[in-house]
Amino acid sequence: MRLSRYFLPVLKENPAEAQIVSHRYMLRAGMIKQQAAGIYSWLPLGFRVLRRIEEIVHQEQIRAGHIPLLMPTLQPADLWRESGRYDDYGQEMLRIKDRHDRDMLYGPTNEEMITDIFRAHVNSYKDLPLTLYHIQWKFRDEVRPRFGVMRGREFLMKDGYNFDVDRDAALHAYNRHMVSYLRTYERMGLTAIPMRAASGPIGGDNTHEFLVLAQTGESEVFYDDRVTGLKLGQRDIDYDDRAQVAAVCEEFTTLYARTDETHDPAVFDQIPEAHRKVGRGIEVGQIFYFGTKYSEAMGATVVTADGSRVPVEMGSHGIGVSRLLGAIIEASHDDKGIIWPEGVTPFPVGIVNLKQGDGATDAACESIYKALAAKGLEALYDDRDERAGAKFATMDLIGLPWRITVGPRGLAAGKVELTCRRTGASEEMSAEAAVDRVA
Ligand code: ATP
Ligand code: MG
Ligand code: MG
Ligand code: MG
Repeated sequence: MRLSRYFLPVLKENPAEAQIVSHRYMLRAGMIKQQAAGIYSWLPLGFRVLRRIEEIVHQEQIRAGHIPLLMPTLQPADLWRESGRYDDYGQEMLRIKDRHDRDMLYGPTNEEMITDIFRAHVNSYKDLPLTLYHIQWKFRDEVRPRFGVMRGREFLMKDGYNFDVDRDAALHAYNRHMVSYLRTYERMGLTAIPMRAASGPIGGDNTHEFLVLAQTGESEVFYDDRVTGLKLGQRDIDYDDRAQVAAVCEEFTTLYARTDETHDPAVFDQIPEAHRKVGRGIEVGQIFYFGTKYSEAMGATVVTADGSRVPVEMGSHGIGVSRLLGAIIEASHDDKGIIWPEGVTPFPVGIVNLKQGDGATDAACESIYKALAAKGLEALYDDRDERAGAKFATMDLIGLPWRITVGPRGLAAGKVELTCRRTGASEEMSAEAAVDRVA
């Protein structure tokens, strides 16, 4: 992408309405534009990151055996009357009437609708296990939308729903989601800690929230800091292997890690003092096993092997796709701007032309741009007629992992400069070497 032809409306000033760094940088880097409280347009740069995050979520869900579909944003109120949640949900639900005076709503979540799909088409235990998910916009009329995309009213969520014949199978589905989420967040360069959350009426270990540690997080968290060192890494997971998946969950949930809702000072105080930490975190996902809560209310049953009919066992599992942009920036930035992890960066590398219009410099930039493209890397090439300082400031702000700087002086010695955004380290080398290093 040539910057002269792109749409990157960078702001020089800090927007007054932004209280936290991720919101500030997303506005300044021209990633989003607010259209109403908690409702945003995704400008091209923000949209690219959003799509990359979605893609990682899809890949890891599919790897775990989960099946994508797409449900609508608008839902009929009648479905929610069946579960009893139409009245319970309260003011966070945006209620709408259509021209025939029918009650509709903009979905805040999809348990009812997915249960409706299930009961229409599935009848037998032989069709289980089944996990369906989608990535779709949600609306919650939050009292205090704030912090940009972190607490929007319209926001993008991945929500998945498992259907299983019995409790053990459903708990395996729960564990499968936990492991697939760990991998998802790691691929985005994040440490998201599964923390025991408020379990609600079911009781037990049936819900975990995933929290990214950050000062600006809205949840208070209590944890043994050894938990932050756990990594899933590249290990091979067989998602059908119940014992293996359960062992991973055990590994990641044994050390103390809880939100204020489930915090137990008596247990916490037993952790060696050097490891006892209190901090703040951003909730980037939650998994939930709730058994037959919806299937019973809505008549979603299956015939079992012995011929009896039982309500199907379910759980739901969400990832805050749009919130993740904010969380990643909160976790990875400096005073010049964003530092994108490689996994989600909008462009893998930027090219800065220090002397636009100079024949040799332009030609060298073009040739680097094409060499990168040949390796499957789309560079963001700053080919504008701008001062070097302004170009560097833009590149630092938008936070691409690598920058290749090309100028007449370096070229005379056969060199360009390769700069790593994260460390700030620069190195001179040939253009070919720089391309190879980035690829
Ligand atoms: P919160 O506690 O932040 O209000 P929640 O517990 O109500 O979130 P869930 O119902 O668990 O949210 O939804 C799954 C995920 O969707 C959350 O973990 C979060 O990452 C994301 N999410 C929820 N509400 C919002 C919002 N208003 N804006 C952006 N993302 C959100
Ligand atoms: Mg909420
Ligand atoms: Mg929550
Ligand atoms: Mg939650």
